[in-house]
Amino acid sequence: MIQQPGTSGLIFNEPMLWEKSRMGRCAMSLPKRDVERKPLEADLTGDEPNLPELSELDVVRHYTRLSQWNFGVDSGMYPLGSCTMKYNPKTNEVQAARQGFAGAHPLSGDEFSQGALKLMYNLEQSLAKITGFQAVTLQPAAGAHGEFCGMLMIHAYHAKKGRQRSKIIIPDTAHGTNPASASLCGYESVNIKSGPDGILEPETVSAVMDEDTAGIMVTNPNTLGLFESNIKEIAEIVHSKGGLVYGDGANMNAIMGIVKPGEIGIDVLHLNLHKTFSTPHGGGGPGSGPVAVGKTLEPFLPVPRVIKAFDTYKFITDSPDTIGRIHTFYGHFGIMVRAYAYILSMGAEGLADASKLAVLNANYVKASLKGILNLPYDKPCMHECVFNDKFQKEYHITTMDMAKRLLDYGFHPPTVYFPLVVDGAFMVEPTETESKENIDQFIQAVKSIALEAKNDPEKLKKAPHLAKLTRLDEVMAARKPCLKG
Ligand SMILES: *Cc1c(COP(=O)(O)O)cnc(C)c1O
Repeated sequence: MIQQPGTSGLIFNEPMLWEKSRMGRCAMSLPKRDVERKPLEADLTGDEPNLPELSELDVVRHYTRLSQWNFGVDSGMYPLGSCTMKYNPKTNEVQAARQGFAGAHPLSGDEFSQGALKLMYNLEQSLAKITGFQAVTLQPAAGAHGEFCGMLMIHAYHAKKGRQRSKIIIPDTAHGTNPASASLCGYESVNIKSGPDGILEPETVSAVMDEDTAGIMVTNPNTLGLFESNIKEIAEIVHSKGGLVYGDGANMNAIMGIVKPGEIGIDVLHLNLHKTFSTPHGGGGPGSGPVAVGKTLEPFLPVPRVIKAFDTYKFITDSPDTIGRIHTFYGHFGIMVRAYAYILSMGAEGLADASKLAVLNANYVKASLKGILNLPYDKPCMHECVFNDKFQKEYHITTMDMAKRLLDYGFHPPTVYFPLVVDGAFMVEPTETESKENIDQFIQAVKSIALEAKNDPEKLKKAPHLAKLTRLDEVMAARKPCLKG
């Protein structure tokens, strides 16, 4: 019997600080006042401020308990497909917190920022090498921002050639941010369908590619977790009509050190440092979406750019064809330190091993749950695998019911109802950092839930049973968000 992590046990109820407040209770002692006491001006504050009065222990327990209601990679498996929620080694945090990096000020000038500039330069070189491209910018703040930056470069490229185009081809397995980025650049999306085995067919692309189409955006591996193995042929078709190929590299965790996108026909690619290169993400925290380009698009890179002249590093802004600046200063520096620390500590072989393990783990999940959950595209996957609720529909159980029940077993649910090409999708990305034991626990939990779908569907429909709150009214939460607390 496999032991589940579970969620029962000590989950405290936590009242608001105001409810715990007792008049006169205090968490600290201030030195004796040596100035005259002056009441706050009434017109400034209205009433006296209603601040809770608490001991230090009250405050520490309150926030510690609230933090335990949260769930993250540090507390359990987080198999969220399309997100690469892997464990981030703590040494990266230590490096990013070093005084020299954390205290660096972007206005201190190149001559006083040599260490930071060198790190950015070296990180760009490493990412260029990993992806097989000529040059990299670290400015974009996230993946979608990287897409926007890349699409602006494609736009500038066509403008420079003297004739702007109006459309972009976007397959049904692209990430939702792709058409949004294309639209922001004024392009109209032309949606195309993948073939029966979940990947793009060259004929479909050649049927729509014309000289009014600026290019194609391809997520590879795609959002079904499948490698677009016709990418070279597709790139040739697009290039032959004067278009360019945008590669969404958010799924690079499957192919680091194995495939170089710059060598398979892609002209511009973004990476997500907060997915592949080990920066914690979620909660809207800062991210980083570097963009790599080949020779064709290099002149259009945003400024400033970091260059190395003999032994010094500096920012340059003289670049006549640049799309301009897309972030204040040079992007999110702390994320760059983490990514660089990760790349150095893993080494080339380590990065390739991480990708191989991510792929192995996803295929292990896929093979283990095949027959338990329906597998719409039954072929070897990359870093994630996509099931759906077709088998459970017979008992009126949906993907949502199963995802909610997983909470009782101590797992963050996988991605649900995405990608849109799969009805009732249940998309699992275990990542390379989960052990076989953890993955087995997850597989066992899904198997138990599938059994419950058959034997006790009513119970399953009311899940989660052990979480602090059960089913929330998600429509209400979206329509009438309570933003005041
Ligand atoms: C996450 C993701 C994005 C968007 O990246 P953000 O950093 O969230 O903006 C784009 N494409 C794919 C395939 C992704 O998985």
